[in-house]
Amino acid sequence: MHELSLASEIVRMVQASAARDHFMRVGTLRLEAGALAGVEVSALRFALDAMVAGTCLEGAVIEIDEPPGRALCSQCAAEVTVASRADPCPLCQGYPLKVLSGGALRVVDLLVVDE
Ligand SMILES: [Zn+2]
Repeated sequence: MHELSLASEIVRMVQASAARDHFMRVGTLRLEAGALAGVEVSALRFALDAMVAGTCLEGAVIEIDEPPGRALCSQCAAEVTVASRADPCPLCQGYPLKVLSGGALRVVDLLVVDE
């Protein structure tokens, strides 16, 4: 389950910025898991919940946005919304599609608790 390694990477990144920016606690962590990022959001959430104990993310609200995937069709040049990287263009059934957005898992925002 690669959500486990993604979750540990996110926790590692947040811990690194806590060390760099000298904060102890995170109030809200906002993530973006695009529809084309290949991330199972419920599994990611479960993995994060299991990993935050003892870190600056313990007790933080974790929001995960799931923006739709946008792609450019190489056949008809339309910009389309797709649910999967394996989908053809919904307009012309063409391939391949070039992913424009919604293809990444990333940290959007980090709200720090001041103590
Ligand atoms: Zn097309």
